[in-house]
Amino acid sequence: MVIVMKDHAEETDVKNVTDRLKSLGFDVHRSDGVTRTVLGAVGEKRPEFDRRDIELLPGVLEVIPITKPYKLASREFHADDTVISIGNLKIGDDTVVLMAGPCAVENRDQIMLIAEQVKKAGAHVLRGGAFKPRTSPYSFQGLGEEGLKYMREAGDKFGLAIISEVMDVSQLEVCLKYVDILQVGARNMQNFILLRELGKVRKPVLLKRGMSATIEEWLMAAEYLMAGGNYDVMLCERGIRTFENYTRNTLDLSAIPVVQKLSHLPIIVDPSHGTGRRDKVAPMARAAVAAGANGLEIEVHSDPDHAMSDGAQSLYPEQFEELVSELKIIAPAVKKKIQPYLDNLL
Ligand code: PEP
Ligand code: MN
Repeated sequence: MVIVMKDHAEETDVKNVTDRLKSLGFDVHRSDGVTRTVLGAVGEKRPEFDRRDIELLPGVLEVIPITKPYKLASREFHADDTVISIGNLKIGDDTVVLMAGPCAVENRDQIMLIAEQVKKAGAHVLRGGAFKPRTSPYSFQGLGEEGLKYMREAGDKFGLAIISEVMDVSQLEVCLKYVDILQVGARNMQNFILLRELGKVRKPVLLKRGMSATIEEWLMAAEYLMAGGNYDVMLCERGIRTFENYTRNTLDLSAIPVVQKLSHLPIIVDPSHGTGRRDKVAPMARAAVAAGANGLEIEVHSDPDHAMSDGAQSLYPEQFEELVSELKIIAPAVKKKIQPYLDNLL
């Protein structure tokens, strides 16, 4: 249920409504718009709850039940788009943010070189996995903390924010020391224990769609993060499993307008895992921007033929550079622009 306060309601009225809702057993989440405050009351309704009691409180304009199972992630709770700030970087406004880098951090030289290349091409965020969820236990599992240190060094040197995956609660503390955005991988979208922990931190989270998750399940996973008080959540469409096997996954670009109608959270598209093949990445990246995505996460490698993971879906740096120049033409057609190039994003 959301409680919409009257325009410029008194702070004492907002507090009074908040206290009443809490006394009824609700968790109260506040969203301040330009003129109006909206309170989201989440939790089980007690038998003694009567909506009219809230409607009659001073300063209340209306009480609207949210019928969807996700509340804080819904447009009803927050009508405007959520804009996440990371230093000078904005995610979710009328700009498109570019996250690029290797699937995995392999060594210091590799990440330093790729960071320089993607920065030159116009990227804002450096991606790179230090903890890798691999299908085979015998595949390269990532460098762990050493990889995160190299990522941080590369991000600081080239003025890039950094994103890396946290696979487990036990890795959270070390990830928080280094990264600007915590990535939750597709395989972990419904790891509720991890989501609850990430709800307690105050760092942005990129939540990848599970490979067999419906959009509603994905938004419910976002709700876990927000219910804990972490509102800086972005969603990432990375393809779902279908019967098709010419591509690694089926990139569901229709999720972009669907999510944008249902939710206020930014949506990022990963055409690398979404297609699994280098030659399919640029067309789908262009399509994602045309469909209104707030950003892209793309695998780029300086030497994809020798990459330790996902080389086949990684762009060569020159291909990424060319793609960025195309995106600069496409974005204005949908009233967006590529986020400006800044020497230092943090
Ligand atoms: C990744 O981004 O490297 C990754 C493992 O992605 P996903 O969780 O979408 O498979
Ligand atoms: Mn990968």
